[in-house]
Amino acid sequence: MPIRFNYCPHCNEKIMFRIDLGDIDTSQYPAPVYIIHEDKSCGKLSTFYVDSLLRISYKELDKKPGGIKTIRSIK
Ligand SMILES: [Zn+2]
Repeated sequence: MPIRFNYCPHCNEKIMFRIDLGDIDTSQYPAPVYIIHEDKSCGKLSTFYVDSLLRISYKELDKKPGGIKTIRSIK
């Protein structure tokens, strides 16, 4: 399962999470997935949009429609 590195849009700390194609609705790209920043001082959810190679296109601060999974970041 691929691991992705990025930055939390709430606190801008580096985050890391595992994602595969089963975590997104592949009928339309970029596809949203919900990411929870697993951190005591943050813990917030945001929406990450990924392309067909699971690369992050852009992010939104809140929960946008269309996602099918919520992923917790790896500590
Ligand atoms: Zn955060």
